[in-house]
Amino acid sequence: LTLTDPIEEHRICVCVRKRPLNKQELTKKEIDVISIPSKCLLLVHQPKLKVDLTKYLENQAFCFDFAFDETASNEVVYRYTARPLVHAIFQGRKATCFAYGQTGSGKTHTMGGDLSGKAQNASKGIYAMASQDVFLLKNSPIYNGKLFDLLNRGPSCACWRMAGSRCRWWGLQERLVSCADDVIKMIDVGSASRTSGQTFANFTSSRSHACFQILLRTKGRVHGKFSLVDLAGNERGSDTSSADRQTRMEGAEINKSLLALKECIRALGENKAHTPFRESKLTQVLRDSFIGENSRTCMIATISPGIGSYEYTLNTLRYADRVKEL
Ligand code: ADP
Ligand code: MG
Repeated sequence: LTLTDPIEEHRICVCVRKRPLNKQELTKKEIDVISIPSKCLLLVHQPKLKVDLTKYLENQAFCFDFAFDETASNEVVYRYTARPLVHAIFQGRKATCFAYGQTGSGKTHTMGGDLSGKAQNASKGIYAMASQDVFLLKNSPIYNGKLFDLLNRGPSCACWRMAGSRCRWWGLQERLVSCADDVIKMIDVGSASRTSGQTFANFTSSRSHACFQILLRTKGRVHGKFSLVDLAGNERGSDTSSADRQTRMEGAEINKSLLALKECIRALGENKAHTPFRESKLTQVLRDSFIGENSRTCMIATISPGIGSYEYTLNTLRYADRVKEL
């Protein structure tokens, strides 16, 4: 596998991906307020109050490492985001790639791809493409591909223990895998149980973070680690005013974890001594991946193009903007 690594020098890579207008938005005749004039530049058009679809009051510009428009395939997005990180883990480094954005903006489409894999126009997601590349690159005998399935079902699985300053999960099923197809089958099972909502009471995918980790081991020692994360919908963080107590508490937790994630990434970019990992479970899970020497992080901010999502889209872009390396 040969490859030019377009983001080799960046410790933190921040990208944005715009999806096409969907049927619902087209039916409502929503206009597309996002344009991507070049590979790093994204413009948000704020329409005039009077409905004049051809003129805009103001354009807000955002620059990112990469801006993918609605024509970009999962393959293209993968190539510029997670693929270089697969190489990093084979150098014994830790890497994290996560999708952040509003519910319905394309996080799961980007990370998990099409669930069944059989549907027409099925497209593989980053999980599957990264798994395949791990096995392509594993031709050297010192590497063993090993996988930890975090979407397991037992009630005792999501258990946290503190050991000194470290936290860790207990009861996770660890599976040795021999080919990418094994991994993809497991991802399908995990993704299906995440979206069915039966595994975790009251958990729909928009209200939970899902993390999939690939560990490379050499003689039992963790050599490289890749964390791939499909985050909860970021609009859920504002569910704090909901009348339903459960929803309110989940909203507060999501808010806290997304803020902690941002702070941790910023702290890394600034090489700060203190990184606030302990602020949330999400950042504790990712702690390991973040702190290794030369760790690499890639964020894919997904956005909906419609004017109906305008406020959420701006929130997502502002968050992504804050995460950029200074
Ligand atoms: P999220 O996980 O952010 O809530 P999804 O990934 O489930 O959102 O996407 C919502 C819908 O939009 C899905 O039907 C998905 O297939 C579609 N979709 C998302 N991104 C794209 C894209 N880039 N191209 C085509 N369809 C997309
Ligand atoms: Mg989703």
